[in-house]
Amino acid sequence: MTTAEDLIAAADAHCAPTYDPLPVVVATGEGAWLTDVAGRRYLDLLAGYSALNFGHRNPRLIEAAKAQLDRVTLTSRAVLHDRFAAFCAELAELCGMEMVLPANSGAEAVESAIKTARKWGYRVKGVPAEMAKIVVAGGNFHGRTTTVISFSTDPEARADFGPYTPGFQIVPYGDLTAMRAALTENTVAVLLEPIQGESGVIVPPEGYLPGVRRLTRERNVLFVADEIQSGLGRTGRTFACEHEGVVPDMYVLGKALGGGIVPVSAVVSSAEVLGVFRPGEHGSTFGGNPLACAVALEVIAMLRTGEFQARAAELGERMHRALAALPATGTVTAVRGRGLWAGLDVAPGLGTGRQVAERLRERGVLAKESHGATIRLSPPLVVSEQDLAWGLEQLRAVLGV
Ligand SMILES: *Cc1c(COP(=O)(O)O)cnc(C)c1O
Repeated sequence: MTTAEDLIAAADAHCAPTYDPLPVVVATGEGAWLTDVAGRRYLDLLAGYSALNFGHRNPRLIEAAKAQLDRVTLTSRAVLHDRFAAFCAELAELCGMEMVLPANSGAEAVESAIKTARKWGYRVKGVPAEMAKIVVAGGNFHGRTTTVISFSTDPEARADFGPYTPGFQIVPYGDLTAMRAALTENTVAVLLEPIQGESGVIVPPEGYLPGVRRLTRERNVLFVADEIQSGLGRTGRTFACEHEGVVPDMYVLGKALGGGIVPVSAVVSSAEVLGVFRPGEHGSTFGGNPLACAVALEVIAMLRTGEFQARAAELGERMHRALAALPATGTVTAVRGRGLWAGLDVAPGLGTGRQVAERLRERGVLAKESHGATIRLSPPLVVSEQDLAWGLEQLRAVLGV
């Protein structure tokens, strides 16, 4: 029999060491739970960084995928297929937009959004050739491609990957004065996460997103919201921007759009913006494939009912009520988040975020550290109230309160 130790050693030997996974080797998953190769169960409070909002092997999504597997799975965009128009139309409608540019990974969608904004800048706004600028925020996370890491402020994500792509300006997240000062005639877009996930679930000060919306509208700059992690139900609304009544010019979506089954991402915007492309100017072999569209259509149908958003809001309130008690115990210095999404900073005396994640794992709970002292919680939106309460009990036990 192959043990978990053998499988971990083999992965260490043959897989490029870009991750440092917890020592868990998963064999199966269902709902909010994973089972490892030895039969031990874990409550998954990470949910693939929001890629698994609907849980592991959600029955509706599995059924949609299986039905599509029996029909056709991949066509390329050389021809149309019978799920494509519905995918584009229904995703645009969910977003209150008009057009969709389909892609696969989140980073690819961000790249596509950057290309869209630049093309719009040159063809519609009239920015002189090669002068387009995009303003981004410090602490951002938008993916791992060479262009995207060019405007990261995380030394680990950037070091030794240069030369970097020019055309980006970084301003502090949450600072409207800096944002106002950064916008020029050549600015084509502001690209922001409405809540910064990877940075530790950083919620910007109230009024920041509406302020960015106002400034970008005044200056004829596209407001691009990267809702890859914050969107599709996570915060208790379909989009995190909604909490402040903000409608951006462009949504960038991914993660949960693929239902935890296949990678599906998209740029969603108006016809004025996405209509700038001509055939041949952008593309993707797998983007908008039939299997991806079938799964995403089911995801969209599930989100249309509002039940997952309501669940995230309700369970999120319970979770945040429980977490709010922690700072008074001295074990946690800060708790942030919205909906079923939280970042907590562990007090220095209690060890690193990684050590807390290890201790949670020993108690059968999976969560992930981000940047040193922060623990990120993003349970599947289908987690039961009891399971969530149990998971939070394990967290309290690990913190010793
Ligand atoms: C995960 C994430 C990405 C990158 O998505 P990949 O599918 O890993 O390329 C981009 N932006 C945000 C906000 C993310 O959370």
